[in-house]
Amino acid sequence: MTDVFRGSFTQQEPIPEEGIEAAVAVMRSGRLHRYNTAPGEVAQTVMLEQEFADMVGARYCLAVASGGYAMGTALRAVGVRPGDRVLTNAFTLAPVPGAIAAVGAVPVFVGVTRQLVIDLDDLAAKADQADVLLLSHMRGHIADMEALMALCDASGITVIEDCAHTMGAAWNGVPSGTQGKVGCYSCQTYKHVNAGEGGLLVMDDPEIAARAVMLSGSYMLYESHRAGPPKEMFETIRYEMPNVSGRMDNLRAAILRPQLRDLDRQCARWNERYFRIEGGLRGTPGLTVIDRPARETIVGSSIQFLLDGWAAPDVQEVLRRCRERGVELKWFGAAEPIGFTSRYDSWQYVKSERMPASDAVLAGIVDMRVPLTFSLEDCDLIARIIRSEVGAVHQNVRDGARSPA
Ligand SMILES: *Cc1c(COP(=O)(O)O)cnc(C)c1O
Repeated sequence: MTDVFRGSFTQQEPIPEEGIEAAVAVMRSGRLHRYNTAPGEVAQTVMLEQEFADMVGARYCLAVASGGYAMGTALRAVGVRPGDRVLTNAFTLAPVPGAIAAVGAVPVFVGVTRQLVIDLDDLAAKADQADVLLLSHMRGHIADMEALMALCDASGITVIEDCAHTMGAAWNGVPSGTQGKVGCYSCQTYKHVNAGEGGLLVMDDPEIAARAVMLSGSYMLYESHRAGPPKEMFETIRYEMPNVSGRMDNLRAAILRPQLRDLDRQCARWNERYFRIEGGLRGTPGLTVIDRPARETIVGSSIQFLLDGWAAPDVQEVLRRCRERGVELKWFGAAEPIGFTSRYDSWQYVKSERMPASDAVLAGIVDMRVPLTFSLEDCDLIARIIRSEVGAVHQNVRDGARSPA
């Protein structure tokens, strides 16, 4: 009898009771807008910003409507103008080039290595093409940040970090999002904290912070931001920056605060599951596990492996067989974008040159969500299913009995 997994890859845990109660209290108060406070009251949004800034060790934090909005605001706040070129990862998700396009700028894609991080050689080769890098720590894989920052500093490139998958992660002990000029996080349901939608920006530069606050739609109420820059910073910026409304509200902040307090524990639970699956996959013929560098503190909320050099129909056969046994895998090699998964050549509003080495890596990347609703036994079962189906297809190919496409 073959085992079938019956769990859901899209089911997250409920919002903690404390968050539900805080959210209900906000609703009872009627004061959902962040600048709508009773005398002496500190808004949930303001407290969330202070707590997140403290957590990652940043001077300033701003809560906004989404991760994509956070990136667009960061780009604009560091001075990106319409028509500018912005370097970014070829291996990422659609909101990343979308944030660049949203400010009228033009993405220039940088290749991906077999470790699934940005290719620093390709970055060096393209360094003279732009002044800003929107660095996506895609699926939680963090590049060698010392090398990357040295390269960008030497080339005068401002780095903005997309930490949608690295909230709670670190490189060499430094929290992800605090090495670039701005760190951007998402609080969307499938990320590490869940408010449905939401985003956070962190930065140390008071001028960038003031621009971001104004852009987010603070009107002239910026003084109520406790994790914002001093009011002198707004002297001229308040006249210069347009209001591009994208604030976070108190309801979302109330839901998020208890989740942030619990983030370390949740990250440990993700990693238990991640390493359980990784352990089950190791040694599968034809399958390459991505070894994580010792300097990286990961948050294993998803797992990737490579089917390196496999023909497309064989990868598709693995996906089909796993799906039949309840295991949902995604593939970055597909010619057509599906669901959340797309590739640099799917974003046809950008003129991009083909990157053969990156295409070869992308063609082998298989990706799987690891929600915390999975038990460790679920993880064992999922790994067994993948192992047996990859093994079977691999064996068929070696026997010359190519699987039906
Ligand atoms: C989800 C995601 C974002 C954007 O976050 P939203 O809150 O959905 O706008 C940015 N980058 C990556 C890599 C993501 O997966």
